[in-house]
Amino acid sequence: MNCQPVVLTVDVEDYFMSPESIAFEQWSSFEDRVQVGLNRLLDMLSTCGRTATFFFLGYVAERHPEAVISVAKAGHEVAVHHYWHQPYEQIGKARFLEGLRRTKGILEDLIGTKVIGHRAPMWSVRRDMPWVFEGLLENGFQYDSSLFPIRTYLYGDAGAEPEPHWLNFGGGRILEVPPSTQTVFGRRIPVGGGFFLRAYPLGMTRWGINRRLRSGRSVVLYVHPWELDPGHPRLQLPTKLAWIHAVGLNRLGRKMTELVKQYEFTSLRNSLSRFEAIAGGTNA
Ligand SMILES: [Zn+2]
Repeated sequence: MNCQPVVLTVDVEDYFMSPESIAFEQWSSFEDRVQVGLNRLLDMLSTCGRTATFFFLGYVAERHPEAVISVAKAGHEVAVHHYWHQPYEQIGKARFLEGLRRTKGILEDLIGTKVIGHRAPMWSVRRDMPWVFEGLLENGFQYDSSLFPIRTYLYGDAGAEPEPHWLNFGGGRILEVPPSTQTVFGRRIPVGGGFFLRAYPLGMTRWGINRRLRSGRSVVLYVHPWELDPGHPRLQLPTKLAWIHAVGLNRLGRKMTELVKQYEFTSLRNSLSRFEAIAGGTNA
């Protein structure tokens, strides 16, 4: 019987918030739709009694405080997805720390409990950026889920460890929980999340999840609210980016409904002790 966590994570940002498409300064001119997909996902999860981790962008939390509160009240984990959705290498250490503290403060004021989890925008952390992990430890984070262990067209670090592991920085250590991958014909591919969740047939996602569970490994998937809102306005993007953004949008709602029914999704926080055990010991 499977006893490994099957974790669903949600990066709470809107359809126009990635820097490869629209600059932060222009966001206010776009229709705000984040709650359409968010509410759809929350309904799916509550119907089946599942929980998830919601990494909120600080900008979104400020504009939708009621969404943060309702996510927490429904038993889900609230965590940090920074403030501006800019890659950390571009904004640098000072701005990273500013956005990290600002977003953590916004979320903790709203939900009244400590926030312990972080995911970088655009998976924009690499192992050679110690100032990110030191900043997380200094600010009370217990885990990070930002190292994408595959190099893709837009992001990732092919040399990163693909399973949960400890990272030692500045006299402390933080648990790194990467999105799940699997090796097929000698090549590492994502199990499912974002583009990959939309582009893969449902059977392939199920196969990847089941394969990991059968071999005693945990599963971490991710999705964005806008991916469950196929009616959102289309952006003017270069052809390749437009395809990446739009592929499989119309099918994801049905796929997610099936996955939420089939798997006992839970939050990363609920599974922390099991991830720590996988990584080799607790942090007590
Ligand atoms: Zn994001």
